[in-house]
Order: sequence, then structure tokens, then C-alpha cells
Amino acid sequence: MTAQLLDGKAVARQIYEEVAAAVSQRVQHGRSRPRLATVLVGEDAASAKYVELKQRNAHNVGIESEDHRLPAETATEELVDLTRRLSQDEAVSAILIQQPTPRQIDMRQVVMALDPVKDVDGFHPINAGLVALGWGGVEPCTPAGIIQLLERSGVEIEGANATVVGRSNLVGKPMALLLLKRNATVTLCHTRTRDLASHTREADILVAAAGRTGLIGKEMVKPGAAVVDVGTNWAAGRQVGDLGPGVDEVAGWLTPNPGGVGPMTRAMLIKNTYEAEVRRRP
Ligand code: NAP
Repeated sequence: MTAQLLDGKAVARQIYEEVAAAVSQRVQHGRSRPRLATVLVGEDAASAKYVELKQRNAHNVGIESEDHRLPAETATEELVDLTRRLSQDEAVSAILIQQPTPRQIDMRQVVMALDPVKDVDGFHPINAGLVALGWGGVEPCTPAGIIQLLERSGVEIEGANATVVGRSNLVGKPMALLLLKRNATVTLCHTRTRDLASHTREADILVAAAGRTGLIGKEMVKPGAAVVDVGTNWAAGRQVGDLGPGVDEVAGWLTPNPGGVGPMTRAMLIKNTYEAEVRRRP
């Protein structure tokens, strides 16, 4: 591998240390301790593991947590009720609803029941709107984590050509907005994009968030580019991303996968939880 590592694990550690110090200082000054409520619907083993990991990450920095489990057959109204109760609960700083939820759940109704201040994932339209306007708001954890990873690794965003592949509300779209806010020139690609390679080859910063194994071949990468592999795909029981073989020989910077975007996403959840409490009770 010739590309420099965009080391998500190491940068995530820095963020945990900073949040732990901030929580400790806050509590020493007699202020409230942040508290994260997690909600898991159904018994999916991978989702349960993610929730446990997030609770452990919270605990390690001095953030309290509580865990709510609902059966797989839960109706939208029941999840809306719980979301409303947690939104009104003075003890709760931030609410995480683990995705994906079962098919019968209408997430739009659930999201509308969230207090935007406690919306740790940046799902609520108020937060999405604030982020789109560049007026602050809760930034979704994955794109916010990628920005932190690039900035703290010394990748210059201002003035760079940035191409994002994928336009989901949770990853691609906010990723494009956060790069734009930092003065990158942004291209946002999707399944109807004509000649994807012509856009990726122009990118000084390339974010692959399509969820398609091997979509970005090494011939699609500009030499020296910073390449961020968001994709979480599974091949032969192993986690793989959206990049094909040999991208590491062309890129200047590269996230490992796993070990790049995933740890940053979890670290930003913890940072967002802390910040939710600060916004609520400065
Ligand atoms: P998603 O909702 O399925 O969106 C995928 C996006 O990629 C869509 O906008 C789609 O375009 C686009 N796309 C799919 N195939 C494409 C192709 N062949 N060419 C160009 N664009 C294509 O997924 P998501 O939630 O954004 O997540 C994307 C990937 O990141 C998934 O693998 C997910 O598991 C992973 N992820 C990882 C983390 C982490 O922490 N590591 C966090 C979040 C997501 P259309 O809109 O035209 O359909």
C-alpha cells in the first residue's frame, strides 16, 4: 500500500478523549451528565451488537445510557409513543433509534416525534434544514465523522474537487453539504449519473457511499486523491467496502475498511450526545 492511512480508529480515540475531558469538566462544575437513550426494534443480532458497542462507548467517556428494546412486530404508533416519551423525559439528552427498523415502521412519523435537540443522528427535518442552510444543526454522524477524519489527518478540503458517490439522506446528501460548507467544489453522483468515472477521476476527495462492492476501480481514482470508503458490504463473511483492488496504489490517502469510517461514525454519535446536553443545558 502506498496511500497514507486515514486512520479512523486513531482519530476516533482523540475524539473520545476530548469528550471524556469535557464531560468530566462539566460534571466537576456541577452541570448535568449527558444521558443517551438507545432504542432497538427487533432481534437482529448485528443491530444489537452495534447498540451494545454504542452504549459501551458512551460509558467509557462518562456518558450515562439507557436501553429500550421493542419486539420485531412493534407498530409505528408504539415507536412514536416511546420516541415522544423519551423526547419529553428531562433525564434524557439524546435519542438514538437504531436503523434499520422493521419494514412496517414508518420512520417519517417516528422522526417527527423526535425532539430535534435530542436527535443525535441529525434525522429530523429541522436539523437537515439547518445543515442545508449552513446554520448549524445536528450533523449526521457518518458525514460529520468523515469531515473530522479528513481535517484531522491534514487533507485540505477548501478548494478541492470533491465527488460523493451516493445521495442518501443519511450519508451522501449531507456529506456533499458539509464539504460544500468547507468550500470544496462538490459533485454528487448516484445511479443515474452518466459516466461515473469521469466524475470520480476529477476528485481530489472521493467519498464512496454507494454500498456496492468494488464499484470504484483503481482506474476511476485520481492519483494522489484522498479516498474515503463508506460502503459496508459483506463478501465471504468479511466486511468489504465500495473500492476495487489496487486503489491503495493510486490514492494519496485512504480509509481502511473496516477501521476507517465506522469508528468515526460511533465517535461522532458520542460527541453529538455530549453536544445535545450542552445545547439543552449550557
Ligand atoms: P443507500 O441509502 O442504499 O444509498 C446508496 C446510494 O448510492 C444511493 O443514492 C444510490 O443511488 C447510490 N448508488 C448505488 N449504486 C450506485 C452505482 N452503481 N453508481 C452510483 N451510485 C450508486 O445507502 P446509505 O445508507 O447511504 O449507505 C451507503 C453505504 O454506506 C452502505 O454500504 C452502508 O452500509 C454504508 N454505511 C456505512 C456507515 C459506517 O459507519 N461505516 C454508515 C452509514 C452507511 P440512487 O439514489 O440513484 O439509488
